[in-house]
Amino acid sequence: MELVKTEQKNFNDYLEFLDPETISEFEALLQQLQGKKIAMVSATCYGGGVAEKLHSLVPLLNDLGLDVDWWVISGCTNQFYNVTKSFHNCLQGQEGSLEERDIEIFLHYNELNAFPMQDWHYDYFVIHDPQPAALIHYREKRAGEKWIWRCHIDTSTPNMAYWNFLYRYISRYDACIFSMPDYVKENHGLQNLTFITPSIDPLSFKNIPLTRERAQEIVGNFGIDINRPLISQISRFDPWKDPLGVLDVYRIVKKELPEVQLALVGSMAHDDPEGWDYLYRTLRKAGEDYDIKVVTNFNGITGLEVNAFQTVSDVVLQKSLREGFGLTVAEALWKGRPVIGGKVGGIKLQIEDGVNGYLVSTVEECAEKALNLLRNPMLVRQMSENGREKVRKQFLVTKNALAYLKLFAKLENRTLARNL
Ligand code: UDP
Repeated sequence: MELVKTEQKNFNDYLEFLDPETISEFEALLQQLQGKKIAMVSATCYGGGVAEKLHSLVPLLNDLGLDVDWWVISGCTNQFYNVTKSFHNCLQGQEGSLEERDIEIFLHYNELNAFPMQDWHYDYFVIHDPQPAALIHYREKRAGEKWIWRCHIDTSTPNMAYWNFLYRYISRYDACIFSMPDYVKENHGLQNLTFITPSIDPLSFKNIPLTRERAQEIVGNFGIDINRPLISQISRFDPWKDPLGVLDVYRIVKKELPEVQLALVGSMAHDDPEGWDYLYRTLRKAGEDYDIKVVTNFNGITGLEVNAFQTVSDVVLQKSLREGFGLTVAEALWKGRPVIGGKVGGIKLQIEDGVNGYLVSTVEECAEKALNLLRNPMLVRQMSENGREKVRKQFLVTKNALAYLKLFAKLENRTLARNL
């Protein structure tokens, strides 16, 4: 196990985003939970949504007076990561059988990582995702400890062989957190089932306010003409994100509005061959149209550039065909951009159709809504306020922190009640 270092965060910097009632809720819960010791355990501290969220959540909880350590499992071989990658894919519905050898590898590295945990003294253990889920089997729960399993993936239609295996372990936790009710079809054995949506950090580089001029300068460096309308999608190059469908949408809009431009902004993982394949397919389909810009981390896209594209786009698309949550939707809404998203998964939680964007099921519908927004700046202004307010109320990291505190307090109170 390795301890992760995080930057410091100051809860006071976030007060401007909070309603007075929320601040009172924090105060009441913190009186009860001051000084509680918490161990967060995840598979990695970089890359991916889980790491991104914990880098904000852990320092925020520490600043609130809890004593939180974030650990990542260590000593694992590629064999383990290959097995857990199939766990990830199959829990999200991919076909495949769970072999005895995979189970052995999975359990072996959980056992190995549980060894140093014998000396740990924490009030709460929060174990993230399937990779370390079996730690509870090897580090027996002691009196007074509460164990929570946090699932970040879409388990709405899991491969049952994998789900049944995982279920043996997660049913031993004192509480299980999923992002939304749809993701847990079978719940009879799970204790204190809790739903917490993912969140964004309004003070990260990706989300801090940029002036329009600064944002225009940044996107201008990628060849965008800042005087012409821009449609963007910020996403990995993945069939489920439908970049090819986005190109179809753009072409329909282009016929009506020849000055429109399209930016497809995506990050490429070195070890994701499917991502590269899909990027090349996207480039081939984009062809010789120089109003289409396809840019990635290999051209210098970091959090700041994502921020700039989201800030200056006239319309942001997230035309996914399947989506766990879709942080990019919350990120764009936070910047006051109406988002047109696929009517799927977590996008439905974020977009209120006709209020802060549109939910669509086809290319044609998506193009029609994009044209509607491009032609109606007044409508955009109204939707922009609605979108930002929705994110402020529901999808900021402070909301996430509060949800964890509520769960900790609930588990604490149940134990107190039992001991009376
Ligand atoms: N992202 C990024 N650079 C890119 C494309 C995406 O940093 O070029 C970020 C994006 O801003 C978001 C995350 O990657 O924070 C993607 O999360 P999301 O939930 O939208 O989709 P996932 O990739 O987890 O399916």
